[in-house]
Amino acid sequence: TQDKRQGEFVGSLDCGTTSVRFIVFDQYANIIAQNQLEFPQYYPNPGWHEHDAEEIQQHAELCIQNAMKELEKAGWAKESIKVIGITNQRETTVAWSRKTGKPLCKAIVWTDSRTKNTVVHHEKKLEETGIEVSPGEWKKGKDGVEALREITGLPLSTYFSAIKLRWMIDHYPDVTAAHESDDLLFGTVESWILYNLVGGASTNLHVCEVTNASRTLLLNTTTLQFEPSLVSFFGFRPSILPKIVSSSEVYGHVSPDVAGGYLAGVPVGGLAGDQQAALVGNKCLKQGEAKCTYGTGAFLLFCTGGEIVKSTHGLLSTIAYQAGPNAKPVYALEGSISVAGSAVKWLRDTMSFIEDAAGVNTLAAKETDTGGVYFVTAFSGLLAPYWDSGAGGLIIGVSQYTNPSHIARATLEANAFQTRAIIESMKLDSGTDLHHLKVDGGMTNGDLTMSILADIGGFTVVRPEMRESTALGSALLAGAAIKLFGWDINAPETLKEVNTKGTTEFKPNMEEPLRKKKWEGWQRAVERSKGW
Ligand code: ADP
Repeated sequence: TQDKRQGEFVGSLDCGTTSVRFIVFDQYANIIAQNQLEFPQYYPNPGWHEHDAEEIQQHAELCIQNAMKELEKAGWAKESIKVIGITNQRETTVAWSRKTGKPLCKAIVWTDSRTKNTVVHHEKKLEETGIEVSPGEWKKGKDGVEALREITGLPLSTYFSAIKLRWMIDHYPDVTAAHESDDLLFGTVESWILYNLVGGASTNLHVCEVTNASRTLLLNTTTLQFEPSLVSFFGFRPSILPKIVSSSEVYGHVSPDVAGGYLAGVPVGGLAGDQQAALVGNKCLKQGEAKCTYGTGAFLLFCTGGEIVKSTHGLLSTIAYQAGPNAKPVYALEGSISVAGSAVKWLRDTMSFIEDAAGVNTLAAKETDTGGVYFVTAFSGLLAPYWDSGAGGLIIGVSQYTNPSHIARATLEANAFQTRAIIESMKLDSGTDLHHLKVDGGMTNGDLTMSILADIGGFTVVRPEMRESTALGSALLAGAAIKLFGWDINAPETLKEVNTKGTTEFKPNMEEPLRKKKWEGWQRAVERSKGW
């Protein structure tokens, strides 16, 4: 590599729900090289959604190699990568063997709702026995639900990892046996990827980053440790749990045996759940700043600074980031929508209404309204702020007049209504109204998708030119861990030269009476879809 130029870059490995990406950034967040690969999705039964953890790993490694080849082709030496960060789909649960380093079953994806009965079982357990919050002191019934929310910031739901892991231990004999013999290692996706990048079973580096840990239903968001009372409530042996680490520190170095050796010895310095990474990538680092990412699902995160705001309106309290092992955590309120871009994908792949995702905008543009149609995209129940795992997907208001354009438009409106529902809850919880919403994610490529969001929401949508905020966030966390470019997440002014490219604004352009009427229609449709 002597003829190649030496640069100073940060690599970010973004392990999303449908694809993995590796993006190489310079100090201003210019993209120097990148690659993206989709990986297989498994839907073996209604409501089930699985990934093969080894396939995620293989695609990640291939993706790194492809991007690194591009970097070299552009004339840069591979040693220009000074550090890498990893960001990942959250809640998705991986179970593997300590001895072999291999997965014991398919990973259960965050959208999967097979665990409804496991949730019901634990609701009953919470009702009858409760949680032992301190030696001899049990909280049960409503107090139990409250205690769980108080400790974790979360409700019981199919969404979170502990429920998925419990299901695996109960249903897969290999996982049951590994749990009993202390061979089981539980992890979220960043735990699994990091474990493999640094050497797998030969090193057994078994950690879970704190924002990811805050989605397990096991983390005490104040102490930043797994809560023993919850570990025993779910019946887990403590030996299966990873060590919790911050979002920004050097966890280990990439093994020469992975990804074609391109990153041999490079430190891994940043880990964060994809939504938290996008918050950091949008530089929403202080109280009151918010972003919404529209990918497979949509996730609105509102930074609440050093304070944990407990929602009474169906939002989650979550950890936004912890920038260093001794840094104070920063918290966020989150509204999670399980179906956003995946509804567009459904129109494309299952209904064949469109040829590519962008086509939803062209199709929807053929009509100026939905002709009275509402589409509640509750493919696997409804998350925030409704929390109804039994809700059924519903298209209502259909008549002889209804055509595919109306349905396409109703799909985009569903996305906007769900965003509005979350913003209404945030207003009630935080007392702050949002006049501007920063957005990113694949779905924000659609101009009409964005105009509909502004119209239905009644706020201005701000879309940055460079929208790889998720990858950028993990790059910032990783760079900061080795003090590259003077970046310091706890001192946002050090990031002022990062991503200064422009933005596009979409202003609301709908009369208030119509917005109100449509909002009421949506609420009626949601009521009908509940408890299906
Ligand atoms: P993830 O990281 O969750 O895999 P992405 O951020 O890559 O998702 O976004 C992909 C999603 O965005 C897909 O579900 C796709 O249907 C949707 N999408 C892509 N382009 C457009 C577009 N132009 N308009 C609306 N939706 C789109």
